Amino acid sequence: MLSNSHDLIDRATVIHQQTDLVAYKDHGGTIIKRGEGVYIYDEQGNKYLEAMAGLWCASLGFSEKRLADVAYKQLLELPYYHTFFAKSHVPSVELADRLLSIAPKGMSKVLFQCSGSEANDAAIKLVWYYNNARGRPEKKKIIGRVRGYHGNTVASVSVSGQPHMHGGFDAPLPMMRHTENPHYYRFHEEGETEEQFSTRMAEALEKLILAEGPETIAAFFAEPVQGGGGAITPPKGYFEKIQPILKKYDILFLADEVICGFGRTGNMWGSETYDLKPDMVSCAKALSAAYQPISALMISEDIYNAMLDQSGKLGTFGHGFTYGGHPVACAVANETLKIYEERNILGHVRQVGPLMQAGLEATEAHPLVGNARGIGLIAGVELMANKEKRIPFAPEAKAGIVVQDEAQKVGLVVRAIGDRIAFTPPLIITAAEIDEMLAKFGKALDAALPRLKGAMVA
Ligand code: PMP
Repeated sequence: MLSNSHDLIDRATVIHQQTDLVAYKDHGGTIIKRGEGVYIYDEQGNKYLEAMAGLWCASLGFSEKRLADVAYKQLLELPYYHTFFAKSHVPSVELADRLLSIAPKGMSKVLFQCSGSEANDAAIKLVWYYNNARGRPEKKKIIGRVRGYHGNTVASVSVSGQPHMHGGFDAPLPMMRHTENPHYYRFHEEGETEEQFSTRMAEALEKLILAEGPETIAAFFAEPVQGGGGAITPPKGYFEKIQPILKKYDILFLADEVICGFGRTGNMWGSETYDLKPDMVSCAKALSAAYQPISALMISEDIYNAMLDQSGKLGTFGHGFTYGGHPVACAVANETLKIYEERNILGHVRQVGPLMQAGLEATEAHPLVGNARGIGLIAGVELMANKEKRIPFAPEAKAGIVVQDEAQKVGLVVRAIGDRIAFTPPLIITAAEIDEMLAKFGKALDAALPRLKGAMVA
């Protein structure tokens, strides 16, 4: 990479998130300058097809002028106000109404926050608040899943099951538990069907609940499709078997729709795609097409009623952030939801999603690829050192990073999650752009093969 003055200043000043800081200090990274449609351009003018929509979020690509115009208009009219102390503002009211009108069934009230992490953090607090209000102060533990991802605040990272985000940070908090990762391809036993695997996963969850004591378990958090865990779709029957167990032990279910919400899986919600009946839903990212930081936590009437009971005793509902439900962010989110409807984004995802899935599944013919699966416009492609025997690469081979680097060299941004390469392009991607993305990915795999030959297992 050419070093320019921004690169050098960046290395000298900025703490990069989720980055190998030692490598960054020595080698720097890529400074992105501008975006257009599904493409981004770096400072040297190199063009990349952004097959991750940034961080699974820039659903309308990188140049939607309507969102810029709406933000500007709102900045002129009311650039800031809050929703504390019985105040409100028009963009927040309009967004709440629109969002609840398309929300998964059973959602009754919405709390606006600034990020997915904050929405999930607030959910954790509400779960505790709810059980305090219900006179069950011992019902406080929250179960997440190994490789699940729910954010990076102290509490949301604790429900997440990402060991590299726990080590060094004194996480997880003591009241969090983790059940098994339902990644069928990687963890099924020889001859075990998806249904049988799902049964085993549900049994493991029930065993954990019983071991801890159901009276101590307050909630279960899950993403419909596991994003940060590797873009992993649930195995057949998984949620059908999990949900009755939650009901049986009176455990609240939060569907984390931060990635899946707003069309990613081909329906408005991943909860629709997988027939989930959550008590709480968190969403962010595509809520504003990522043009403004905003998230939402939606809850059922039952949870809200318990909060009302409690507020009789405690007075003020003591939670809130300065920028939660920021008017500019709400206005942009409102416009984003209008655009989804006007342009029939769901119909578009249903049309082009299968092209991406078929193209990625075809990469299973490549010597490096063991498994490629997804739904709608989200998918993961898993690299294997020996795919016949399902032997993964040794971590030192950094197979995922090698493929990610080769992709960037040919103008494609993908994300290596371990050795699983994730794809979540902007929802507006066209069939021709999907072809281009697939062709570039094919080149990246071919270029990675000689680099990884020595790490493959016979
Ligand atoms: N939940 C899920 C499923 C996510 O993928 C993410 C972010 N990738 C979060 C929560 C956290 O969102 P944020 O980064 O906006 O805090």
